[in-house]
Amino acid sequence: MNQQQGFDVVIVGGGVIGGVLALQLSTLGYRIAIVEALSHGMGKTDPERVVALSHGSQCYLEELGLWQDIAAAGAGHIRHIEVREPNNHGLVQMDAAEAGVDALGYVVEITDVVRPIYAALEGKVTWFRPARVLSFQHQHDGIRISLSYDGEEQRISAALLIGADGTNSQIRRMAGIGTHGWDHNRFGLVASVRCERTHADTAYECFRSSGPLAFLPLSDDRFSIVWALAPQEAVRMMDLPDRMFLKRLQRAADESVLPRSGRFESLGKRACFPLELRIAKEYARSRIALIGNAAHTLHPVAGQGMNLGLRDVIDLVEVLDSPLAKKDAGNPLLLSAYAEKRRADVLAVGGFTESMLVSFANDLDWLRLLRGQALGLMQTCQPLKDELLQHASGLTHLRKSSKAHMKQSETSL
Ligand SMILES: Cc1cc2nc3c(=O)[nH]c(=O)nc-3n(C[C@H](O)[C@H](O)[C@H](O)COP(=O)(O)OP(=O)(O)OC[C@H]3O[C@@H](n4cnc5c(N)ncnc54)[C@H](O)[C@@H]3O)c2cc1C
Repeated sequence: MNQQQGFDVVIVGGGVIGGVLALQLSTLGYRIAIVEALSHGMGKTDPERVVALSHGSQCYLEELGLWQDIAAAGAGHIRHIEVREPNNHGLVQMDAAEAGVDALGYVVEITDVVRPIYAALEGKVTWFRPARVLSFQHQHDGIRISLSYDGEEQRISAALLIGADGTNSQIRRMAGIGTHGWDHNRFGLVASVRCERTHADTAYECFRSSGPLAFLPLSDDRFSIVWALAPQEAVRMMDLPDRMFLKRLQRAADESVLPRSGRFESLGKRACFPLELRIAKEYARSRIALIGNAAHTLHPVAGQGMNLGLRDVIDLVEVLDSPLAKKDAGNPLLLSAYAEKRRADVLAVGGFTESMLVSFANDLDWLRLLRGQALGLMQTCQPLKDELLQHASGLTHLRKSSKAHMKQSETSL
């Protein structure tokens, strides 16, 4: 067994969210360790794991000096969004120009986000990878963590332990923190498709009663699709030959996408992810805090999981950027403040996502009529649309966080 190493903060999980947190905290002078299960972190996947980052998240990553490299690897611009229900009237169209921004969001490959984060962390943090937490023990002044690393047991200690280890968080389980939520009994089938014509920087969301189907514009004029399917349907769609799959996709997309994009011509590899809602009952407990998917896993319909995780980081960093935190980063007062900050945002985004799914899941005629009218209202009622635009682009949260920053700098002056 090696000698025990001491850190201020130990982060378990070196994905995007754990990585960005490590970067921010190292800049504040904290001694950071990252425990990551994979030897080199997230590698290239086929099909690509793609996410839509809001304009607000892009601004944040730019502030951290990461965006230039992410964009250089290829970021699709979402300049227009269309939301509709096939075979129903009512359509919401959102435009970046209406929100006064260049793009409402950006479509990026997760590995292209991870790479510059890892490069920026070089020499600033201590990595344990591949490594796993075996156990941890609370002490009066911190937490002792036992790792399996490099073929032997390694002991480290910290004032604060962060669970950034994704949906099936080991840290959440070991801390005895339960979750609220349910299995959607749906799988998200992801793949890329190339169409006859350009995607014109447009993202489409087609709400079908069996589940939503989203088209996100990639930087090379392909679309990345996320198609929510019942388990048996997902198995069938995974097994179909490409040509048949494209036909079925074309039928499902219907008048929403085809008039603009033309026929779907070629298809990349397909993969399926289980879709679930899982929200931790507590975001923090005795020297432990959860961030990113470890704290909340949402259905990807609104494309908010990673955006929400980045806002966890902003709020946690704000709490830890204080004289109290510099004395003891695991102070329960700070962790309660973090949990309180996050609760409303996670509930609002989770609630909005679930209400969209529920309201489009029912095929009753009067509900279809109502949905058509609701979409029509959102399109024509400007104050309602402005609100929607602010949320879609993440501008609401951007304003809130810059206000908080201003407030903080005013008080520290
Ligand atoms: C189909 C689909 C589409 C999506 N689309 C969008 C979108 O458009 N926009 C959006 O904002 N979000 C989207 N999301 C959600 C988004 O992908 C997640 O919210 C985000 O990737 C979570 O990042 P994370 O760093 O918290 O967790 P993860 O990405 O899961 O990273 C966790 C890290 O912890 C490591 N790890 C795991 N277990 C352990 C352990 N026991 N010990 C040590 N390390 C461990 C893993 O190797 C990994 O590096 C989508 C999700 C899905 C499934």
